[in-house]
Amino acid sequence: MTVLKPQEGDIPLPVPGVVSRTYWEGCAAGELRFQRCGQCGGATHTPAVLCAHCTSTDLRWEVSSGRGTVYSWTAVWRPQTPAFEVPYVPLVVEMEEGWFMLADLVGCEHDAVQVGMPVEVTFHAHPGGVTLPYFQPRPA
Ligand SMILES: [Zn+2]
Repeated sequence: MTVLKPQEGDIPLPVPGVVSRTYWEGCAAGELRFQRCGQCGGATHTPAVLCAHCTSTDLRWEVSSGRGTVYSWTAVWRPQTPAFEVPYVPLVVEMEEGWFMLADLVGCEHDAVQVGMPVEVTFHAHPGGVTLPYFQPRPA
């Protein structure tokens, strides 16, 4: 058994754009940022120009607590490209602020994950120049 760790290889990396730049700058600064609607109060993620709930353009950036619980997960043994080290465990995490996020699990063995497991965000600077968010187990 091996402890899951951040990917270091030549994996596909995000390219920050006009809409997502604030999000990726937050990751580099150790902040998990998301958008909150000034009209309906709903949270939007991934970065967007329209609220996911009411289509308002009145979106404001907030910093998440970084804490959530595992909503769903899978273990990948056959990656889309050989650059990924396996296994890796993509999670859908329900964040404390009520939004959902997809990122990989690190810091525990692949078979330790469970739905409802408390996790917190952690950041890893990939050698390709972008800081990626991951989740690690946290005490309940
Ligand atoms: Zn809204």
